[in-house]
This record gives sequence, C-alpha cells and structure tokens, in this order.
Amino acid sequence: DRASAASAPLTPGALADGTAVPLLANLGKPEGAEEAVALGAEGVGLFRTEFLFLSSNQAPTVEQQRAAYTKLLAAFPGQKVVVRVLDAGADKPLAFLNDAHEENPALGLRGIRALQASEDILREQLTALAEADAATDADLWVMAPMVATVEEAEYFVEIARDYGIKTAGVMVEVPSSALLADRILAGSDFASIGTNDLTQYTLAADRLLGSVAGFQDPWHPAVLRLIREVGDAGRLHGKPVGICGEAAADPLLAVVLVGLGATSLSMAPTALADVRATLLQYSLDDARVIAEAALAANGAATAREAARSVATTQA
Ligand code: PEP
Ligand code: MG
Repeated sequence: DRASAASAPLTPGALADGTAVPLLANLGKPEGAEEAVALGAEGVGLFRTEFLFLSSNQAPTVEQQRAAYTKLLAAFPGQKVVVRVLDAGADKPLAFLNDAHEENPALGLRGIRALQASEDILREQLTALAEADAATDADLWVMAPMVATVEEAEYFVEIARDYGIKTAGVMVEVPSSALLADRILAGSDFASIGTNDLTQYTLAADRLLGSVAGFQDPWHPAVLRLIREVGDAGRLHGKPVGICGEAAADPLLAVVLVGLGATSLSMAPTALADVRATLLQYSLDDARVIAEAALAANGAATAREAARSVATTQA
C-alpha cells in the first residue's frame, strides 16, 4: 500500500539485468544533503563549491571552507561525495579572480585556468577539503572544472595528490578533453561529464542566451559521440565515468548515457525517482541498442525520437 511504499527504503540505481548505476545528487550547498538522502541519493556526484565564493568580494577562509565541507561530508558516511573545486568565470564571475573586461568570458580565463593563474585559492581549497576528509567518513573525490588539455588534467591531479586527496579527477565539459579522454584518463582517477557546458561548446551556442536555446540540447548526436569517446576511454582504463550535467535528469537520455559507457549519474535530487524507475526497465544490452539508435540520427530531435521508438520495443 501507499504508506508502506513511502517508507520502504529506496533501492540503489540499477538496470533490469542488475547492473548497478549509482544515482547521485548535484548539490550547491551542504544544507541540501538531507533532502538528497531522503530522495534516495547514494552520494553526491557534483558539489558546486561556488556558493561559498559568489557572495563575497574575497575568497572564503580555509576555516569557513572546512566547516562547509565537513558538514557536507558528514551527511554521507561511507558514501561517495564528488566535490568540484571552484568553477569561476563566465556565468559565475568572481571579482577577485576574473577579469570583467573579457569579451568572451565563456572562452576566457575560467575554471581550472583561473585557478592555475591564482594557485593560492586552489591550494587553500584543497587544504580545507583534505582537513574535512580527515574529520569525516565519506569517500571524498575531488575534480577540476573546465579542463581542456591533458596538461591541465595532470596539473590538477598532481596538486590534489600533494594534499593527500586520494581520488582526483576531471570534468569533461570541453570537446577537446572528450576527444583526448583516453589520455586524460590514463592519469586521472575518474572523469565526470558536464553535459551543460559540453553541449554549449560543441554546438557553439551560449547556454544562457535565449535566442540560441534550441542548440542547447544534449540529445544532439555530436554531443553523444563525444560522450561515447569518454565512455570508451573509461572502459579502456577501467576508470569510472560519471555524468553530472542536466542530461542525466532526462530518464530516457539517462538510459542512453549508460549505453554510451556512463557508470554513474548525478542530478538534481528531485529527478532521482523518475530516472531510477526508467533504468529498471532496460538491460545494459538494451541501453546500448537505444544509444546506437540515438547516435545514428542527424539531429537532437530525431535522436530523441529514434531512442524513444527503439525503447518502446525493448521495454
Ligand atoms: C555542466 O557544465 O554540465 C556542469 C555540470 O557544470 P555547471 O552546470 O555547474 O557548469
Ligand atoms: Mg560546467
């Protein structure tokens, strides 16, 4: 009955054949942890640390950061929590880090580029994360945003290891890093695909600009091909490939992403239930067949239709 269904523990994310697909939460503040757990999140796949920085004209102190990260990690004992170091620039400009006069801030000094140019901020953040990690029992993973080159990936993993971060990886949200994912994953512990920026940069369409909003569609086969590159690289190296962009919250696209090689999905907690229910309808073989149908299309709309029509016959 309804009451017992509501109180039954939520099952971990899985396909119909039992393949585990951990379902994780995207969070922007530690206060969101409780709701995420209640909605069945098995951990955090993307913790956006920008909130600590955006409200201030100065970087937060190590102590302020440690308190926030400790609160977050304490809410997930024994579970994976992926924290992204500061992603400043473009849609999230910071007075003390970014140049407000860039003409194309989405193509400017942002993400890991900005941190590399102001390394003290990165070092302080890693210090706070390592201290929070030592004080709690969560499984902390740390990743860098907007990585575009193998050298940037190597730079970040090396500096993270200096601070005792055990699991260090990169976001794949720039086409260059998807295309070289095999080389990036040779030296990183994991990749997490940010489909919002990956779509923006693949289709050359500002994700915030209404007049080109029609291009911001992660079903586009050009985006799916890049995701497949990353999935293949993950399999090659035996490394996890998560998805943390909005695409993971679209239930049928979630099936496609798993078919392309994603090993976990992270999304707004309110999307977890629908994605969990849909994954249970398909095996990994089904997911691969559905993904192939989407990849074979010429555009986003036809990819969606093709996946839907194949999925109907598989379910
Ligand atoms: C993304 O780009 O898909 C992503 C998850 O990062 P953000 O939305 O914070 O840029
Ligand atoms: Mg992004």
